[in-house]
Amino acid sequence: MADRHNRDIDRPRAPLPEPLPVPTVDAHAHMEIVTDAAFDSKEVEAVIAEAKSVNVDRIVQVGYSAEQSKWCVAVAEKWNTSVLAAVALHPNEAPVVADLDADLKVIEELAQHPRVRAIGETGLDYFRTPPELRKRQQDSFKWHIELAKKTNKALVIHDRDSHDDVLSVLLEVGAPEKTVFHCFSGDVAMAKLCIERGYILSFAGTLTFKNRSIASRNRFAISCAGSTSRSWKHSGTDCKHCPRHGG
Ligand SMILES: [Zn+2]
Ligand SMILES: [Zn+2]
Repeated sequence: MADRHNRDIDRPRAPLPEPLPVPTVDAHAHMEIVTDAAFDSKEVEAVIAEAKSVNVDRIVQVGYSAEQSKWCVAVAEKWNTSVLAAVALHPNEAPVVADLDADLKVIEELAQHPRVRAIGETGLDYFRTPPELRKRQQDSFKWHIELAKKTNKALVIHDRDSHDDVLSVLLEVGAPEKTVFHCFSGDVAMAKLCIERGYILSFAGTLTFKNRSIASRNRFAISCAGSTSRSWKHSGTDCKHCPRHGG
């Protein structure tokens, strides 16, 4: 299922870690990319079983297109004790789909499904989207925020090189009660602002990229750990897009 997000890169699978001490949710997974298989396949069953073997007993399968969001709902229906779904058009998809209105209609219908617990991933990505397409991307983000509020579901945000505009759109439209930044990539000041506003941040391998100096990485980690101590902590693997480390 190759697309504009380099999702066809053949990145080797990480070895299984030690089992986690408590049952844990992987809040951001793309199992169709890891398996390249049908929602009801043995391959998907194996991924769910492997996750369970290390105490990850729930997986949120996250959407990025109308067609793939149908896969998300189907897998959450099939594995209805271990998988939940999120549905959306990814910010890199929304500006380039052939019929945006038709795709948004599909997402709106899927969002009503009881196994769908979040709207995402949506947001802004100025790394991959040229300036002339950003208005379309912003409009899609706003539409998804409204859908999350209307359906009373969590909002899952993808934010790449667009921190200021993501924050201002959330203020302008009004963030849903549960707003999650997946693979948070902002700085300490942004993290603090998000926490003040009650957003949930997921920290992943992007924090360890080499272009952050060791000192700034350490300061960031310590500062975020302190800031989030009384707040939500959560993470998602984004299998297999979030890097496991910065190399
Ligand atoms: Zn993302
Ligand atoms: Zn993702």
